[in-house]
Amino acid sequence: MRFTELPRPTRVAFGAGRFAELGEEVGRLDRHRVVVVTTPGRRALGERAADVLGERCAGVLADAVEHVPAEVADAGVARARELDADGCVAVGGGSAIGLGKAIARDTGVPLVAVPTTYSGSEMTPVWGRTEDGVKATGRDERVRPAVVVYDPELTTSLPVGVSVNSAGNALAHAVEALWAPDATPVTRLEAAESARAITDALPRVAADPSDPAARADLLYGAWLAGAGLAVTTMGLHHRLAHVLGGGLDLPHAGTHTVLLPHVVAWTLPAAPDAAAALERALGGDPVAVLRGLFADLGAPTTLAELGADDASFDVLAERAVSPPPAHPRVPTAADVRGLLDEALGAGVSTAPS
Ligand code: NAD
Repeated sequence: MRFTELPRPTRVAFGAGRFAELGEEVGRLDRHRVVVVTTPGRRALGERAADVLGERCAGVLADAVEHVPAEVADAGVARARELDADGCVAVGGGSAIGLGKAIARDTGVPLVAVPTTYSGSEMTPVWGRTEDGVKATGRDERVRPAVVVYDPELTTSLPVGVSVNSAGNALAHAVEALWAPDATPVTRLEAAESARAITDALPRVAADPSDPAARADLLYGAWLAGAGLAVTTMGLHHRLAHVLGGGLDLPHAGTHTVLLPHVVAWTLPAAPDAAAALERALGGDPVAVLRGLFADLGAPTTLAELGADDASFDVLAERAVSPPPAHPRVPTAADVRGLLDEALGAGVSTAPS
């Protein structure tokens, strides 16, 4: 056995009602002028965060957009500087946290995340930025949240459809952590428990989105998935999600959900240990369980449903293998093109002839 276990510097406060402790958490970091960032749809929650923070809040910025467009990131950084912010609190999904990370990276202030989806971004030192249709990602310790406050009560309003796709995003983190080249005994345990918890809780959330126990269990699984994402190297699946997200402006979470069964089916023959762990965690053949779960819950199953066509698939396939992702089965551009065609939808070609 040979592995390198990385430190976990993020403080995690998990539990119903812990949103009320946000002021104490920011006080613990000795911050006095934090900017709260969120997406336009979560503005009311951003204002609630400002109320909880009281005098420690310098302002609320509700401009976050998916995939962190460069102009939105730069405007957010400029606003944080104008406010003389000494910290940033991101409240919402991965889009809000993405803008918070841009501010943390460019201004050097610490980030506190209050996630309300299952994206896992709150646990990682990974930033994203989209410019001219290309999404760049990288790792930088300045963007890793110092504190994450998980309050499942904030997630009961997340619509079932968004919850399902977001949970698909989390499952993708767990699956890729299982076959990552730098997986450790700890990350394997986390990833398997994450996959078990998510697949157990998601149908319960879909049946009753306001069920507090189901919401807590799903958020717990998503936390574990994000924790694995933070310390392992993601492979082909994440490469495809980023290439498609940036290149075709597809929704991040839905893209993960559509791609996951395809990438799992293509990869598991080359990753027997991950296949066995996933089969134990999911209680059956992983591909069949994932397909069944997403179909039962009405998740999108084709890229066409997300608005994709195959006009730029060759370019995107080349981009996805340049350089090759760290993956148990090294893909060629032709392999990726095949996967994309399969995921687009059986027999569907929507490109102009
Ligand atoms: P999102 O943040 O865009 O949220 C989806 C929608 O749900 C938004 O309209 C939002 O306002 C709404 N919403 C969020 N919480 C809600 C709630 N509790 N109730 C009702 N509505 C709510 O989507 P996402 O999937 O969470 O994040 C996607 C983004 O995160 C992408 O840009 C992706 O690249 C990024 N991401 C980054 C990492 C990383 O480690 N850097 C990891 C995963 C995802």
